[in-house]
Amino acid sequence: MRLVDLEPNWFDARYWEDGNEKIGRSGFTMLCPHCGTERLAVTTRKLKMTDQMLALSEAHPNNGGNIVPGGYVWSIDSDDFADMTVTPSVDASASGHWHGFITNGEIR
Ligand SMILES: [Zn+2]
Repeated sequence: MRLVDLEPNWFDARYWEDGNEKIGRSGFTMLCPHCGTERLAVTTRKLKMTDQMLALSEAHPNNGGNIVPGGYVWSIDSDDFADMTVTPSVDASASGHWHGFITNGEIR
């Protein structure tokens, strides 16, 4: 399975940088490889939880608030979902969803 097959979408959120409020790309969501229905969020900036939840509920209004996990910042090595590596692993197992790795665009 590849990341591009999980309908990945970038999302924008409000964040703070050098004391200034900004809005910009803050991560992406993708369908959970485990259940294929809920969306998991991979955030690439430190966001306030309220800003993260607002951004995600706007991006996916029918998700039911079940986007996981929150409050964590991942590193990505590419802006291209086809060959992106995300570190460390994405662990949504606490809510019964996928735990695994995204390496060179591959879901493992
Ligand atoms: Zn799932």
